[in-house]
Amino acid sequence: MFVTRFAPSPTGFLHRGHAYSALCAQRAAREANGRFLLRIEDIDRTRCRPEFEAAIHEDLGWLGLAWERPVRRQSDHMDDYARALQELGERGLIYRCFMTRRQVAESIEQAPHGAMEAYRSQALPPEEEERRVAAGEPYAWRLSLARAEGLLGGFGGLAMREEGAGPGGETGLLPIRPELGGDVVLARKDVGVAYHLAVVVDDALQGITHVIRGQDLFEAAHVQRLLQALLGLQAPVYRHHRLLTDASGRRYAKRDKAETLRELRARGVTAAELRREMGFD
Ligand code: GLU
Repeated sequence: MFVTRFAPSPTGFLHRGHAYSALCAQRAAREANGRFLLRIEDIDRTRCRPEFEAAIHEDLGWLGLAWERPVRRQSDHMDDYARALQELGERGLIYRCFMTRRQVAESIEQAPHGAMEAYRSQALPPEEEERRVAAGEPYAWRLSLARAEGLLGGFGGLAMREEGAGPGGETGLLPIRPELGGDVVLARKDVGVAYHLAVVVDDALQGITHVIRGQDLFEAAHVQRLLQALLGLQAPVYRHHRLLTDASGRRYAKRDKAETLRELRARGVTAAELRREMGFD
């Protein structure tokens, strides 16, 4: 059975880019006689707000979408992510990183061979790690690509199936390149889990067969496919879609204050008009 999802984070109001993504996923589910789920990705309690979450339901309903209930909210399932993190920890696949975001950015800039070298040099000697933990210094957990590679005997045997396309037109059965993202953070200092781990755990727990989302997350699929392999989870098929752009060719983004679905609605645009504009009739 085909199962897909739309997984927004309630950190702002939805805009056209979200609507396009949700409509792509729902159309695919309908064409495959499959299921369409909504998942609320709200692990970051500092940025998520209840009014944004309520607006997601309202705006998607206005667009004419229907999804199954109950809706999975990540903040209700922190134990699931903690268990996955523990499993990776028991196998020595993660390490503590005490650097601040700024320190990581600086060390990447200075690394002669780019991000990989910077990230890989972060695992500390055990005594120093112990000392800093005892001193109560905050840390994030990062995935060790070096150890993952050692455990799997290289990444050569791992591929992801892309039925859409990456930003460079990548499609088909693609060898994964997790080094694109370096040793990603799997648990943030303040939150206890981070995006890649939560997504991979949820996609598996919810039986997602097809991940349909924007091309901006294509690179993320490489490390997510690796995490699926390390955790022994079923890998979904990916369908990354093009990113919708405005009249001047700029992609819609929260940070650029893209017009929100509620603003569109307030100035009288109907859901039918919006769907038609985006190619959904
Ligand atoms: N929550 C992510 C976002 O809003 C999407 C995650 C995903 O589709 O894998 O960008």
